[in-house]
Amino acid sequence: MALTLHFSRSAMSLHRNLLLLVLAGALAAPAFGAARLTYYNNGVLIPVAWPDSSFPIRYAIDRRVVQAVPQVAAMLDRAAKDWSAIPDTNLGFQSLGTVDGASAGKDGHNTVSMADDLFADQKFIALTTNWYDDEGRIIESDMQIDPSAVSGGYNVQQLVEHEMGHILGLDHSAVLSSIMYPYVGTGANAVTLDSDDRIAISSAYAKARPAAGGTLEGRVYGDSGGIFAAQVVAVNDQGQAVATALSDKAGNFTLPGIPDGTYRIYAEPLDGPFNVQNLAGFWQSAKVTSFPTHYADGGPLRVESGHIYGNISVNGSGVVTLNPKWIGAWAPGSDSASLQAMPAILHAGSTTTLGVGGDGFISGMTTFDVPSSGFHRISDFKWAGNYVSATFQIDASTPAGSLVVMVKSGNDTAALTGALRIEPSLRTRGVKKG
Ligand SMILES: [Zn+2]
Repeated sequence: MALTLHFSRSAMSLHRNLLLLVLAGALAAPAFGAARLTYYNNGVLIPVAWPDSSFPIRYAIDRRVVQAVPQVAAMLDRAAKDWSAIPDTNLGFQSLGTVDGASAGKDGHNTVSMADDLFADQKFIALTTNWYDDEGRIIESDMQIDPSAVSGGYNVQQLVEHEMGHILGLDHSAVLSSIMYPYVGTGANAVTLDSDDRIAISSAYAKARPAAGGTLEGRVYGDSGGIFAAQVVAVNDQGQAVATALSDKAGNFTLPGIPDGTYRIYAEPLDGPFNVQNLAGFWQSAKVTSFPTHYADGGPLRVESGHIYGNISVNGSGVVTLNPKWIGAWAPGSDSASLQAMPAILHAGSTTTLGVGGDGFISGMTTFDVPSSGFHRISDFKWAGNYVSATFQIDASTPAGSLVVMVKSGNDTAALTGALRIEPSLRTRGVKKG
């Protein structure tokens, strides 16, 4: 399966004369949770968002997109429904239908248009451009779809869901199973918003302030102080990657909107398969520090809605050579192993062989586990080239969601966050037509 990067550009800032208002507004709203499009102005991080009064966001579809992708209006409708269904938010979209001559560019109209192969050489298959003012308020957003998205057989439903996440102000996510992960596959896999996608939106557009859920605050630090652009992950007691955030220049992070439950928090470097180059704006300036994946000090944390848990400290010191980048799942006994930087889709109740590969894998030494009580390893590890594999039985009761794979080699640990996505058990998927 070929992979294609798509690309989001968060465009120019307007109205430089509103600088003072920007600072006042931004200090009043300092939260910058998971995967938001964020820019940096005079020492202040400003995540962009539509003002409440913008909803429903109205968009027109250029006729040429409909000619290239006849189902595009229905796909956009479905994406709008998925994002709008996130609880406790006031999101909404409204299609203005098909128009002639719509094109990207700041003209006061949100449009979906063709990209005319502009990005073909760069292997981008879609692009969303947001315009915002100096207070981070989005005022217009245009989506462009490249013809190669269609001719290449990519999952266009997944693509438009992803671009609609950009329209709402989300940046890319390093969680492989997230809609905001910057790669899209071919085929027609089910498209599901990930917990990381939903929490980023519910914190940005909560009906009530503060947003529901608990807030985790802390710092990732290494031998020379705070670590910039570390991915901080909250994992629940079922091994699900529930939400992520990036640390700022001082190493500080905020994870808002965390549902009630027991969590462990770990930090990992953005050193592939997802890199800071996959992010827009502010985060691109981060100099990446590589460090071993570490859990926060102090063990599991019981989180209750409405509470803030501060001073969470993650020690990211040390040098690392272990770096998992690829995952694969195949039938036990099959010799057609295939690993890629895309999530493996698994069904509860199945038995499957999982393979993990990357840098620093050592035969006879590197192993991995899935920290979920529903996963039981039923074979020895097998090493081949730069990957290791083992067969697992997955309980039928394992809940749907995104799981983490933890790789170990000697004293090194490294996470592949969202490497597995659990779909409901095949046995319960029969739907009677009526
Ligand atoms: Zn994107």
